[in-house]
Amino acid sequence: MTVHLPRDLDEALELRADHPEATPIAGGTDLCVHWPQRIADAPGDWLDLSGVSEIRSHQWTDDELVLGAGTTYWDVIRDPRIRRELPLLVHAARQVGAVQIQARGTWGGNVVNASPAADGVPVLMAYDAVVALRSRDGAARVPLSEFYLGYKEMRLAPDQLLTGIHIPRRTYDFEWFEKVGSRSAQAITKVGAAVTCRAAEWRVVANSVAPTVCRCPSVEALLADEHPVSGPADLKSALDQDVSPIDDIRSTARYRGEVLARLLYWGLRNECPSFT
Ligand SMILES: Cc1cc2nc3c(=O)[nH]c(=O)nc-3n(C[C@H](O)[C@H](O)[C@H](O)COP(=O)(O)OP(=O)(O)OC[C@H]3O[C@@H](n4cnc5c(N)ncnc54)[C@H](O)[C@@H]3O)c2cc1C
Repeated sequence: MTVHLPRDLDEALELRADHPEATPIAGGTDLCVHWPQRIADAPGDWLDLSGVSEIRSHQWTDDELVLGAGTTYWDVIRDPRIRRELPLLVHAARQVGAVQIQARGTWGGNVVNASPAADGVPVLMAYDAVVALRSRDGAARVPLSEFYLGYKEMRLAPDQLLTGIHIPRRTYDFEWFEKVGSRSAQAITKVGAAVTCRAAEWRVVANSVAPTVCRCPSVEALLADEHPVSGPADLKSALDQDVSPIDDIRSTARYRGEVLARLLYWGLRNECPSFT
């Protein structure tokens, strides 16, 4: 097994191009869960991104917050400006694992791990985040809502790395995120949702109810039309067009569908002043 240890981004991109079979590793909190078995099954090479300082912090511009792919949850939790301007990032970060995972796990790892249950991805999508991809040959940007193609499939070429996540700085009328798990902490999401609204433009994003974290366009249209929503059932009819929950070890499809509708209704009715 070879572990490549690039000292900067250029070197990382060279190594990525020359060794596309090597697995990038950032915090390792997803990859190491399967560690003994992974090594036994596929003793491949690794591209350790922990020394690539260009992607390890976050920066503000006039229009955006740019999270380097290696920004950890803890970096976000401890930044009071993020808490003020983009509070859902902090809210989601606090719900990822426990403090040890928050200190090591990265936002880039959460995006590329592409779990339908990821907690960072819904809030990023609700904030219209755009992911920045780099290879030795160039750069590309893809809206996060268009990044996933299917379960664990995404628009990331074998020679590319995710380098950053661009989040527009905007004022929202409503921002909300909630997850349901078996416990109040250290729980993988059974059902979760993030919602933002800005000038009657809604983003409703759900996790654990489809092969990927996904926007819910029918619910967004329902809310934008200002149709009265008298209970979870009204949301459920729209949600049924947007999501396709499955039975698995953590929950059943029926539970997920019902609870997502109730969760959204509860969040909107209790937290959103303009919700009718
Ligand atoms: C105990 C425990 C609890 C957890 N709880 C939660 C939870 O509540 N919510 C949640 O969402 N997640 C949870 N996780 C999962 C994990 O912590 C997060 O998904 C985390 O964000 C992964 O980041 P990482 O840097 O550790 O990724 P890694 O494990 O290093 O990598 C994950 C994937 O991303 C790829 N990758 C990483 N960085 C890049 C890059 N820059 N470019 C290209 N590919 C890259 C890797 O090749 C790999 O496929 C938990 C994990 C553990 C072990």
